[in-house]
Amino acid sequence: MVLRSIRPVPIAVLTMLLAACSGVEGSETSLGPAAIDQARLEAAGKDDDNWLTYGRTYDEQRYSRLTQINDGNIGELSLAWALELDTARGQEGTPIVVDGVMYTSTAWSKVVAIDAATGKQLWQFDPENEGSKAAHACCDVVNRGVAVWKGRVFVGTIDGRLIAIDAKTGQKVWETITVDQKKPYTITMAPRVVRDKVIIGNSGAELGVRGYVSAYDTNTGKLVWRFYTVPGNPKDGPDGAASDAILEKLARPTWYGENYWKLGGGGTVWDSVVYDQELNQLLIGVGNGSPWNHKWRSAGKGDNLFLSSILALDPDTGAYKWHYQINPGETWDYTATQQIMLADLKIDGRDRKVLMQAPKNAFFYVIDRTNGKLISAKPYARQNWAEGIDLKTGRPIEKPGVRYDNGPALVIPSGIGAHAWMPMSYSPKTGLVYIPAMEHPLVYGDADPFVIHEGRWNTAVSFLDPPAMPGLPDTVEGRRKALESMVKGKLVAYDPVTQKPRWEVERDWPWNGGTLATAGNLVFQGTPHGDFEAFSADNGKKLWSFQTHRGVLAGPITYRVNGEQYIAVMAGYGGSMGMASGTPFMKNKMPNGLVLAFKIKGTGKLPPYTPIPQPEPTPSNETFTAAQIATGQKGFFQFCQICHGGPVNPNLRRSPLIADKDLWQQVVIGGALAQNGMASFAAYLKPEEAEAIRAYLNQQAKALLAEEKAKAR
Ligand code: CA
Repeated sequence: MVLRSIRPVPIAVLTMLLAACSGVEGSETSLGPAAIDQARLEAAGKDDDNWLTYGRTYDEQRYSRLTQINDGNIGELSLAWALELDTARGQEGTPIVVDGVMYTSTAWSKVVAIDAATGKQLWQFDPENEGSKAAHACCDVVNRGVAVWKGRVFVGTIDGRLIAIDAKTGQKVWETITVDQKKPYTITMAPRVVRDKVIIGNSGAELGVRGYVSAYDTNTGKLVWRFYTVPGNPKDGPDGAASDAILEKLARPTWYGENYWKLGGGGTVWDSVVYDQELNQLLIGVGNGSPWNHKWRSAGKGDNLFLSSILALDPDTGAYKWHYQINPGETWDYTATQQIMLADLKIDGRDRKVLMQAPKNAFFYVIDRTNGKLISAKPYARQNWAEGIDLKTGRPIEKPGVRYDNGPALVIPSGIGAHAWMPMSYSPKTGLVYIPAMEHPLVYGDADPFVIHEGRWNTAVSFLDPPAMPGLPDTVEGRRKALESMVKGKLVAYDPVTQKPRWEVERDWPWNGGTLATAGNLVFQGTPHGDFEAFSADNGKKLWSFQTHRGVLAGPITYRVNGEQYIAVMAGYGGSMGMASGTPFMKNKMPNGLVLAFKIKGTGKLPPYTPIPQPEPTPSNETFTAAQIATGQKGFFQFCQICHGGPVNPNLRRSPLIADKDLWQQVVIGGALAQNGMASFAAYLKPEEAEAIRAYLNQQAKALLAEEKAKAR
């Protein structure tokens, strides 16, 4: 065996590597994925060549000690290679690199293995999801990554399966169904492997599911334990799960009414699962309620444990250790699923073992991870819903009216959050956390009466145009513009000890990429405009930029092969904002996604890019009644906007289908495009309701056409 690395290897690490290698055949030049085990993952911080797990290390700091690419030579950083993917849907994956081979997941939960030095694809795995499953994905058919362990690659699929793949051949070893596939569950998160168990959660709280996290045996795919985050129907009795006793003791008494178990209650664990190797505990981030609106979920009463909480569990049994609830009685889609990052910080002269989280609600939390007690919490982004967080009780001090139970409330941030899934990073060198932060308002209205549409969005919140309210202009148009003008983003370099930003970079749109911090005094981040950028980690000066021609949202990584350092990132715009929100600057169709790698003096080339403009609206000349258009508007916002409001899926105002009554019915009711992801809506819409949506869209298409013609003049 030859260690190719030329850096000095500490004896302890060398001994560990040799021990890990002893059972591996044919690894002349590399240890390979077969050697990734508990010891290797626990030492990942010192394994500079590799990026072994989702957040690089178990503490998920996304920091690398590599300095070959640094603030002095970044001007020479250029493309080494680019691999084009087979879809234009969103790309959120953080690649894993093991001894020169990159493994990553793409939209539709496919997996690719790539030569990390050349970009050559070694294999691709397609889990063959049903296309219509896309209709259950709140936030695009994205996937945030894979786990590698003892020669296998693990991926969770959009239809709720967990699959083990042979890392060498790309062939399936086992698969297991982790959810009730009749319910609107999906999986977009990266699995994590801890002590021979692969940990996976799920998504779907917008539509109506009950959240849980499961541990499966990496070898056999057999369920080891499951922890439900919220109580189920009391008449069903215990689940036979690790959560049974604690749910009855702590959680059940905080829930009221029946809607919660009818709609599952939410609390999905859809992104953050972190292993604390020092304290041997698993920390999981729990999501929002189902429905969002506390009034309809739990009769407006109770904390609703363990929604919007961080839970500490025993990784071997799933047994409860402690919890901290971020938003008691959550009612705005304020999840605590955002990245959990572990660190040791000196605070007020004391060494503290902390976890850090920048959840959706705009406060940065520093929590003692030995017991779950709050140390400090201050806003890292604009918010208007709380006076602050009470350090004694750990509870937020909510402002009057923010629960929209006595009329609509303009709340910042919206359910998009001040921070979403985009990973943040922490540099121990600068002591700063680099947060992709957002400013995004929403007028929350009580959807009274609340009607459950099984399998569709069930938030009990109305998303119509903002009504007249204090602080907003008198006209609908004025209010729309006022809200739009508040929408922006920023890259925040945040000091977790002083709870203050040290520097910030303003962004004109919220939906920016995850970050990577390196010892070369660099921070990397992508933008929705297609720029992949580097900043000076200590002062925020922009040092470098590369135009990729598609939005860059995923978490960047760095690794070293044959002594050369690379920076890599996946490009492809999508996710919740990509689906639901207009991006005025995106005039063109989305090109296919890419995996990109950069190095000093790289000579790679992007695939040729020709902008394809969005089609011109072609409304029909038919006449529709005002009543039809009004019904259609309601239906559009209830069923269509959430997937067709952004640039990822077809803009229905520009669709030729809206001019053809029969074709429209074949697609919307008949499910003619189900395999593309456009499921039949026959269960939710009568043919005349689908026709009313067509009426509304034709009216909208005419207005859009007139607007564009006026601009062209
Ligand atoms: Ca949510």
